[in-house]
Amino acid sequence: MTAQSQTTQSHRNVYMTDELQAIYDQTVDFVVNEVKPNGDQWEDEGMVPREVLAKMGSLGMLSLRIPEELGGLGLGYLASATFSEGLGASTYAGFEATVLVHTDMAGPHLVNSGSPEQLERYLPGVVSGDFILSIGVSEPDAGSDVAGIRTRAVKDGDGWRINGTKMFITNAVYGDMTIIAARTDEDNKYGISMFLVPAGTEGFTVTNKLDKHGWRCSDTAELALDDVWVSDDQLLGTPHRGFYETMKNFQNERMVLVGMGVGAAQAAIDLTNEYTQNRNAFGSTLFELGAIRQRMAMNQAKVDAVRASMYHAAWMGDNGQDNVKAMSAVKAWGCEVVNQVMYDCLQFHGGMGYMRESAIERMYRDARILPIGGGATEVMLEEVAKRSIVQS
Ligand SMILES: Cc1cc2nc3c(=O)[nH]c(=O)nc-3n(C[C@H](O)[C@H](O)[C@H](O)COP(=O)(O)OP(=O)(O)OC[C@H]3O[C@@H](n4cnc5c(N)ncnc54)[C@H](O)[C@@H]3O)c2cc1C
Repeated sequence: MTAQSQTTQSHRNVYMTDELQAIYDQTVDFVVNEVKPNGDQWEDEGMVPREVLAKMGSLGMLSLRIPEELGGLGLGYLASATFSEGLGASTYAGFEATVLVHTDMAGPHLVNSGSPEQLERYLPGVVSGDFILSIGVSEPDAGSDVAGIRTRAVKDGDGWRINGTKMFITNAVYGDMTIIAARTDEDNKYGISMFLVPAGTEGFTVTNKLDKHGWRCSDTAELALDDVWVSDDQLLGTPHRGFYETMKNFQNERMVLVGMGVGAAQAAIDLTNEYTQNRNAFGSTLFELGAIRQRMAMNQAKVDAVRASMYHAAWMGDNGQDNVKAMSAVKAWGCEVVNQVMYDCLQFHGGMGYMRESAIERMYRDARILPIGGGATEVMLEEVAKRSIVQS
C-alpha cells in the first residue's frame, strides 16, 4: 500500500459524504501530481507560481465556500476541513498556506461582507485563481490583540485615507489585493473597518519580503500604507464593524490550520512507518523495536482523535451550533499534537531526518507556526476556559 492510499483510507470519517470524499480525492490527486514534483523548487524560489492557483481554479477547487448564486459550490465547514486535510498531504505547507489564505482566510471576508458590485468585480478572478487575495490584520505591535492595531483610516472626500504598517501578511508580496483592517473609530477599541486595497495602489508598498523558519514557498510581507487613498466603494462591509465581521470567519480560519496540520501529520506518520519498516537495525527493522512502533501507534491514535474532533466541530458549525469552544479546543490541542508527531517522526528518521533533503525536516519546520498563527494556543485555551466557568 502506498503512502497516498493509506492517507486516503485513513481519512474516512463519519461525516464523509460522496461529495466530500470526491473533494478529498481530487485534492490529494492534485497535490501528488502538481505539488510534490515541484515543491522543492518553489521552496527555493520563495513563491508558488500563480499558474498553480489558476489551475486549481480551472478545476473548480477554489470555489467550495462561494455561494451557489455567486458561482460556487456553496459548501460549508466540512468541505473546508476536507479540503485543508487533503492539501496537508502535499507535505509542502507553504503551498497549502498560499491556497488556504486565498480560499478560507481572506476570501470569506469578501463573500460575507462584499457589496453586489464588489462581488461582481472581484469574485470571478478569486474563483478562477487569477486574482489572489490576502488578509492584512496583524501589525508589528499587534497580533493576538487585534483591538490594538494602529493602522488608521480617516474619511477624505469620496473615500478614505489609510496610514499604517502591516506585518506577516501571507500572499501580499505577489498577490493582487489585501483586505486591510484599519481603525476608523477612535472612541471604540473595536472600531475597525475593512478595506479592499489592490496591489499597486499609490502609497501601498511591500517594504520587506520576510525570511521564514518554515512555509518557505509561501510569500510573507511587511507592508506600508503611506497616505493610501481608496474610494468609498473599496470599504468592505459596514464602517466600524470590521472587527465583528472578521470574527465571523475565526472558527473557519482556525479549522483549516488544524486541517492542514492533520493532513501533514498523517503524511509524516505514513512516511515514518515506511522509513522505519525499511531501515535495518539490530537484526530486524527499526519498526520492529517496541519503543518505535508503539510511539508511532500512539501518534496515529492522537492524530485520529484530532481529526475526529475537527470534523465534529465542523459539523457543529454546519448545523447551526455554536462551535467556538470546540474549535478553539481542537486548534489548541490539535496543533500541539501535530508538532509532537513531527518531533517523533524526525527522531525516528535519525540523522537523515536532520538533512535538508528529507521531507520530514521541512515538515517539522513547517508545523511550528500552527500553534502561533490564527489564534495562538494560549489565546485558544482562554476561549475554552471562558466557556468552562460553572455558574453556581
Ligand atoms: C508565517 C506567518 C503567516 C502569517 N500570516 C498572516 C496573515 O496572512 N494575515 C495576518 O493578519 N496575520 C498573519 N500572521 C500573523 C499571526 O496571525 C500572528 O503572528 C499571531 O496572531 C500572533 O501574533 P504575534 O506574532 O503578534 O504574537 P503576540 O500577540 O505578541 O503573542 C506572542 C505569544 O504570546 C502568547 N500570547 C499571546 N496572547 C496571549 C494571551 N492572551 N494569553 C496568554 N498568552 C498569550 C502566545 O504564545 C503568542 O505566541 C502570520 C504570521 C506568520 C508567522
